[in-house]
Formats: sequence, C-alpha cells, structure tokens
Amino acid sequence: MTTKPTPGQTGIGDMDAGEFREWAHRVADLAADYLEGLEQLPVVPNVKPGEIRAQLSDAPPVDPQPTEEIFADYKRLIEPNITHWQHPRFMAYFPSMASGPGILGEWLSATLNSNVMMWRNAPASTELEECVVAWLRQMLGLPGTFSGMFTDTASISTLLSLVAARHKVLDLETPTRLRLYASDQAHMSIEKAAMVIGVGPDGVRPIPADRNYRMDVDALARAIREDRDAGWQPFCVAGTLGTTASTSIDPARAIGELCRDEGLWCHFDAAYGGALALVPEYRDLLAGWELADSIVINPHKWFFTPFDASLLLFRDGDAFRNAFALNPEYLKTATDGQATNFNEYGIQLGRRFRALKLWIMIRYFGTEGFARRIRAHVEWAREFRDWIDAAQDWERLAPTPAATICFRYHPSGIDDPGTLDRLNVDILERINEEGRFYLSHARLDDRHTLRLTIGNLRQTRAHVAEAWQVLQATAARVTPRED
Ligand SMILES: *Cc1c(COP(=O)(O)O)cnc(C)c1O
Repeated sequence: MTTKPTPGQTGIGDMDAGEFREWAHRVADLAADYLEGLEQLPVVPNVKPGEIRAQLSDAPPVDPQPTEEIFADYKRLIEPNITHWQHPRFMAYFPSMASGPGILGEWLSATLNSNVMMWRNAPASTELEECVVAWLRQMLGLPGTFSGMFTDTASISTLLSLVAARHKVLDLETPTRLRLYASDQAHMSIEKAAMVIGVGPDGVRPIPADRNYRMDVDALARAIREDRDAGWQPFCVAGTLGTTASTSIDPARAIGELCRDEGLWCHFDAAYGGALALVPEYRDLLAGWELADSIVINPHKWFFTPFDASLLLFRDGDAFRNAFALNPEYLKTATDGQATNFNEYGIQLGRRFRALKLWIMIRYFGTEGFARRIRAHVEWAREFRDWIDAAQDWERLAPTPAATICFRYHPSGIDDPGTLDRLNVDILERINEEGRFYLSHARLDDRHTLRLTIGNLRQTRAHVAEAWQVLQATAARVTPRED
C-alpha cells in the first residue's frame, strides 16, 4: 500500500482534528460491527501459543504506517484472536461485560484524560466520583455512613483495606505477629495482600468452611481466642460474599458482630456477589454487611462496566488517609482541606477517571434497569439449577445463591472419584475446544466441578438452554476412562 503520510504523521504534533474525526467515526463502526457480529464468532479462538506473536513485527516501525493498514491489522490479527469476554456464550469465571453506554463513557474518559489525583487538577472528575460512589452505595442499599472511591481491581481494593486495618493497630503499639482471618474459600487476593503488607503467609489463618462453603463463624471465634492465647495479635477478618469457586456467601452479620466484639477490622470481599444487592429482594443474602469497615464490589464483573472499575467502600475514610496521605510540597494546593484529594486514600497518585462511564451507565439504565437485568440472570440460573437437579445423570455440587451454577456429570453406576473427575475434565475440554461455549471449573470438596455463570447483557434464556443441550450432548460422547 502506498499512502502518503498525513500531516499528523510527519510533523511534531498530534493526529490533526479532521483525521481524528474521520477515524473516530470509523472506529465507532469497527466497535459496532464487532458487537453486532460477536455471536457469529467462536467464543474461544482456535489459536496456539505463539501463533499471533509470529504474525507481529519484531521491531517497531521507524516510519509512519498508513492508518488504514493499522486498523486493518487490528481487524485481522487482534479482534478475531481474543477470547471474547463479551460473547453471550462466554459462561466461564465471572461475567465481565462492557455495556454500550459504559464503552462510550470509557471512550470519553480517554478523550478527557483527566488524571484524578486531587481536586485542583480534576475538579469535575473528583466530584463526579464522589457522586457516583454515593449513587452506587444507595443502589446497594448501604447506609450513608459509607463513602469510598474507585480502584482498578478487587485485589487492590482489598490491599488498601488491609493496609488501613494494619495501620490502625500499628498506631497503638508495634506487635510482631499480626493475624488476619479468611475462610478456606477466600480469593487469593487476600493472601497476596497479606504478602504485600508484610504479615506473610503465616499471618493469614484459613478458617474452615461449612458444607455449603460458608465460613464457620464458631471456628473463627475459636481461632481468634486460640491465637490471642498464643501471643498473636488478630487485626482483621476478611469475609467473602460470593466466593470465586462456588459463590457461597459467608454469614455477614455473625462476622460483623464478632469483629465488633473483638475489636477487629471487618472487610467483605463482595467483588462478584455485591451485585445481588442491586435487587432489593436479594439484599437479605448479604444482610449484616453494613457492619463492615470496608467492602469491595467490582462493577467490572456483574455490573456491565468495561474493565476496569472496582468500588471500595469504607466507613472511616480517615483510617485510609492516616495510612496513605503524604503531602509533599509539589502537591500542595490552595483548596487542600476544602475538597477531596483521592490520592490521599491509596497508593496511586495518578488515577483513571472511572466515574464517568458509571455515571453514564447508571443514568442510561436507571437503578430499576440494573435490578431487572440481575433478576433475570438469577432466574435463568435457578432454572438451570432445576434442570441439573431433575436430571438423572447430573448433580449439583453447591447451592446457587447468585447466577453461577456448580455441578458435574455423574452417570449412575459410576462412583469412582477419579473416573468422575476425568469424565468432567473431558467434558469441559471438549466444550471449550469446540469453542461454541466457554465454561470453567473449580474444585469443591476435592471434586472436579463444572461452573456455568450467567451475567451478560447479550445473553438470553435461549443461550442458557443451549448450554444445557450442549452439556448433555457432550456428556453422551465422552466415555469413562482409566487413568
Ligand atoms: C474476581 C474476584 C476477585 C479479584 O478481582 P480482581 O478485580 O480481578 O482483582 C477477588 N475476590 C473475589 C471474590 C472475586 O470473585
């Protein structure tokens, strides 16, 4: 292709306004075409490791390349070779779905490129973040005692919370053996945060879960007593409201009350399960979570928000400011003390303008629109649960409080654990290799567990019904095998 470089490419400035406008329209078409045609694509591309890299140039181009060619390569090499998280037949892990209004908001926030470090250099973005955090808090039915902010991920929201929790006890004395508690079903982000804050793997005591994978709060109380007697200093309990393997919900109220009695920081990881609270009649599932010191919910999971956005809610913002605020001379401004400077509540100085996409989305869908969608997903999940329960050769391996179902194929006459595991490994591999659906797995009570999650705005009941058909048809084609 011989195209002359444009003025934007030959000078020392940016792409010029006319060229930007033209490509902005064409990229809008690329995006709309992708979303419209998504369902025709396999969910998982048929590529081997290294295959894409081999088609990418080893060295960066010295001279400008035609824009036409750049986007043609995007369309040819990148778009078809991703695993399509937006696909209605993506039912693995947890949903991560970018709604139309969310994508538009993400685009505008890239356009403004507002860096939300402090009020002076981001007035509207700071105040919009405060507003949207308060909106989300209300949408979740949490009291006005909570404020908060956005971070990139639940892992980071949890890390910040554990730093604040530890800072609170370090203010009083300097104990050497701090301990925090989480169930044996908790996400690895708790352990990672513990590594980063220096309490180490020994500083996390796993608490056994009951047969429904919920933290056993009596065992928690005993562990705290034992540890105090042995010279540990307990400082925090991290409950999970919607665990990653089975979506089990720890007893929030019992944990919150125990933390209050014991003087411990109460953290709830509701990265996935928090979305349930968007539906008023599901809030009972999380009852007591309002006793928390900190709560993490990921709008980029079951909230239709383009990656990334994690909501960190806290009861005592000063606990975070005490842990994180440093005010070097180069950041001092005339409005300090009159407005929020979000960098004082966490590790990062520069922060993305995440509130914009959520503001646009919440106004576009309305709170009732969110509730209606979550409710539909939960209802389809309950229907799928009932299909599993009614089927002779299938069994459910965990309760289904949200929109994720844990189950396995278990034909009558086959009870050897290894054989059952291999059957289910084979079913999952076949389905994912064929690429029409994408499911994932977990290990529950040492059983290979299939996991199907619903939560995508492009999904309909028909997709869920088809997944059940495909599972049954695939199971009929696998044969039990010896190791
Ligand atoms: C997904 C998930 C996380 C991790 O979320 P990131 O935003 O990817 O860090 C943590 N906890 C739970 C319960 C999750 O489901």
